[in-house]
Amino acid sequence: MSENLDLLNRRRKVMGDSPLFYEEPLHFVRGEGVYLHTADGQRYLDCYNNIPVVGHCHPRVAEAIARQNRMLNVHSRYLSEPIVAYSERLLDTFGDGLDQVLYTCSGSEANEQALRIARQLGRGRGIICSNFGYHGNTAAVDQVSPMMHRERQSFSEVRSIPFPETYRPLHGLSGQHLIDAYLAEVQGAIDSLEASGIGFAGMILCPIFANEGLPRIPPTLLQRTVERVRRAGGLVIVDEVQAGFGRTGTMWGHQLMEISPDIVTLGKPMGNGYPVAALVTRAELLAAYREQVFYFNTFAASPTAAAAAMAVLEVIQEERLAEHARETGDFIRHGFADLAGRHGLIGDIRGAGLWVGVELVRDQQTREPAARETWQLVNELKREGILVSRTGPYGNVLKMRPPLVFQRGDAERLLAASDRALQRIEGLATDSQGDAEVMVSDMSGTSVRMRDR
Ligand code: PMP
Repeated sequence: MSENLDLLNRRRKVMGDSPLFYEEPLHFVRGEGVYLHTADGQRYLDCYNNIPVVGHCHPRVAEAIARQNRMLNVHSRYLSEPIVAYSERLLDTFGDGLDQVLYTCSGSEANEQALRIARQLGRGRGIICSNFGYHGNTAAVDQVSPMMHRERQSFSEVRSIPFPETYRPLHGLSGQHLIDAYLAEVQGAIDSLEASGIGFAGMILCPIFANEGLPRIPPTLLQRTVERVRRAGGLVIVDEVQAGFGRTGTMWGHQLMEISPDIVTLGKPMGNGYPVAALVTRAELLAAYREQVFYFNTFAASPTAAAAAMAVLEVIQEERLAEHARETGDFIRHGFADLAGRHGLIGDIRGAGLWVGVELVRDQQTREPAARETWQLVNELKREGILVSRTGPYGNVLKMRPPLVFQRGDAERLLAASDRALQRIEGLATDSQGDAEVMVSDMSGTSVRMRDR
């Protein structure tokens, strides 16, 4: 522990107060599959990290990176077989006429380019986003990422609207009334952008609303939202930075949700930790964009990025990790449903594939969010040697999205530990901690400070 303290102090000195998970930060020195090992020899089961999608330090990915890097790594303005071969294989996984790819180094950059395309080719500069989304850290992308804003902010070219859900539905509505109410929000945002003279460029959304807490979406709502956006001349940008690469039990979240986007953005798991990201769109959109904008990105689309991404995609496909994610995720959700019989704190269990969200409430009827208890659960599970986090606007959705090589035995361990941890929490006085400010991890793998509610 004193070594950790020393490292923490040195870190603070040179990096300032950059975010860290947990009050007592963890110091990992090695990763393997679904496990992370600390400097003092402890092993943690990783139910949190989605970037190492095929497992931490996968030998095939590490070897592909090293092999390519020993041979050649230059920028993308020379011909290169690896990036063309990867693009072909990647694009084979898409339909809907999405047939070209543009590379970046991060999800933020991919979304930045997507916004630029929509604004160049749509009918104005206005963008619609959800009121608790996160899409990255550039100046433009931050404006469509209300999750990271301490206080509600407004930007002239952005309209944020309530994200769709049925557990805490808009105006308490249900069925067709609820669908109509959400569609009215979309239409209201379009009308407002048009009336203000800004015009409408398009809408950005995560297909599973991951940062929002994986809400259950009213049926047909997303398809009808897409129709509305298109009818108004806007482009639909689907951010698959979290949902993509097999996580949801299908290759892409928009395929699961049965919507056809104009632009799809990718990142995080794409290189299993090697920084590679992209957007996928139709050839005519990319051609029209390139006519107006010169885009070059020094590190993107390099041979080594291609080698990393190719190894990841091969493993996902050869090991059928999407199907595996569906089966294992369903097993975990069923397990939590069993636990719900014993633990009144469990209010709702959601998600798709190996993206599992469990919403904790103090009262099943009023659905009062149990944020403090969720935070306690995250920390109790850490004590059990298990990494999870929480998300959602109330910070009360337990967030689990392990590497896709997570096995049935790992899921059983997670469930047994959650059972014990919930028993301990229910045995504690819930008002003993005051209204402390705590570190809350967000869906993006970073942390934000927020008041515990
Ligand atoms: N979109 C989503 C949905 C994300 O979760 C994130 C990061 N967590 C981003 C975009 C930004 O990606 P990056 O951190 O690679 O810039």
